[in-house]
Amino acid sequence: MAAILDGKACAAAYKANIAAEVQQILARGGRKPHLAAILVGNNGASETYIASKVKTCGEIGFESTLIRFPESVTEAELLETIQKINKQAEVDGLLVQLPLPAHINEHTVTLAIDPEKDVDGFHPGSLGRMMLGLPGFLPATPKGIMMLLEHYGIKTSGMEAVVIGRSHIVGSPMSVLLSRNTEPGNCTVSLCHSKTRNLEAHTRQADLVVAALGKPEFLKADMVKPGAVVIDVGITKISDTSSPKGYKIVGDVAFEEVAQKASWITPVPGGVGAMTIAALMQNTLEASLRRQGLKQA
Ligand code: NAD
Repeated sequence: MAAILDGKACAAAYKANIAAEVQQILARGGRKPHLAAILVGNNGASETYIASKVKTCGEIGFESTLIRFPESVTEAELLETIQKINKQAEVDGLLVQLPLPAHINEHTVTLAIDPEKDVDGFHPGSLGRMMLGLPGFLPATPKGIMMLLEHYGIKTSGMEAVVIGRSHIVGSPMSVLLSRNTEPGNCTVSLCHSKTRNLEAHTRQADLVVAALGKPEFLKADMVKPGAVVIDVGITKISDTSSPKGYKIVGDVAFEEVAQKASWITPVPGGVGAMTIAALMQNTLEASLRRQGLKQA
């Protein structure tokens, strides 16, 4: 039976450290780190993510500003607001919650964010720095997974790793981070996607599997090597009449059966989701330290 990689507990430990650093910044005469977030429309999942980001800022002593726009906002209006926040000296980090409505180009919006404030790590400058192994903002979900592996002392060097899903925000950067010359890292990585032939042949050989495809309970026990480390990124809301809420959140891994075979596994919820927020807060702290001249770039 696998041991649990408890993202909630791990995130709480990171958040306590960040909160302590905020107190040190204030004691040195600095100001609170400040995260600004832009939310367009009222997509239920986005509302939930933004609410927990704002709540976490309050818990660890950050300032936060939430700017909301209706679904009908034009791209020009959105870009104008981003430019305004880019110039606000007291704001350290700026994120635009994705997805955006179809009439707004996500790449144009991402490019408009000042790379110094790009705490989501989606700007091409941040992604380029990641490729080169230079210091910078790593995308929050893959960064959170690396923090989780590090927290539990999982030595990944030399492992065969399979990442399922190649999105710009999760799968692709995850494959890069796992293959970098770092610990955790130093894996031999296969990046699988919807066109991969015989995906099971890849996952069955993997010492580490990261499932990030958005298909509930896709990864079954017979696709996993005994003793593998299994990271579940998926978050899908499915109807559940037995729950008072009428729904439940399901990951990309068939947890009950895979947990019988894996050595380590993340639960959903309480796994990667919690770490994503902790990583975002870590990025915002780092942005603030640099912008306040308390840490070298
Ligand atoms: P996406 O839809 O942008 O990308 C999905 C990827 O999966 C694509 O690259 C596609 O090629 C691949 N894919 C789809 N079907 C496949 C199949 N049958 N076999 C192999 N590959 C397949 O998704 P995303 O934004 O990367 O998100 C993936 C999942 O992770 C979603 O459930 C999302 O809600 C969740 N997510 C969770 C967090 C978190 O903090 N836990 C953060 C971001 C996304």
